[in-house]
Amino acid sequence: MKRPAVFLDRDGTINREVSYLSRPQDVEILPGAAEAIARLNAAGFWVVVISNQSGLARGYFDEGDLALVQLEINRRLKAAGARVDAWYFCPHHPAGVVEDLALACECRKPGIGLIMQAAREIALTLEGSFMVGDRLLDVACGRRAGLTSILVKSGHPDWPPEVPEQEPHFVAADLAAAVDWILAGGGR
Ligand SMILES: [Mg+2]
Ligand SMILES: [Zn+2]
Repeated sequence: MKRPAVFLDRDGTINREVSYLSRPQDVEILPGAAEAIARLNAAGFWVVVISNQSGLARGYFDEGDLALVQLEINRRLKAAGARVDAWYFCPHHPAGVVEDLALACECRKPGIGLIMQAAREIALTLEGSFMVGDRLLDVACGRRAGLTSILVKSGHPDWPPEVPEQEPHFVAADLAAAVDWILAGGGR
């Protein structure tokens, strides 16, 4: 039985925005975020992180650093009874310096490559799924994939929308408020 997902941006949505976060000791989970993810777990949504990490292409950090940050976030979430079911990262950027990663790709948000990959690999249905992120490119990514898209104001000050695909279905102070809205019916 396929279930809907809540796709989450990472930086500025789950953890405090730090420019090119690359060290576990710099991980700070935003207030209420872990509890919000636990509520999504309990409600039966897949929780899937979709994150642009162009710092890899730019050579600011490597896959090992990225994995350590992910472990630290998982550890903090687990302490609050919360679980991310799957993580997807775009390591690319056209202006990168790492040869294999310096390219225009389909997976960098607002591209929907990572969402489509998740939809192939996980028993999820895009119908009834949501995207939550702090940037307009998160909203655009969600909309392109047909998801209900929520902008949270806990991260990057990215406003106002400039094109229709950047218009959020809902604006929330933070992930906790976004999850309140999702669990109250998500606009339905
Ligand atoms: Mg973000
Ligand atoms: Zn990519």
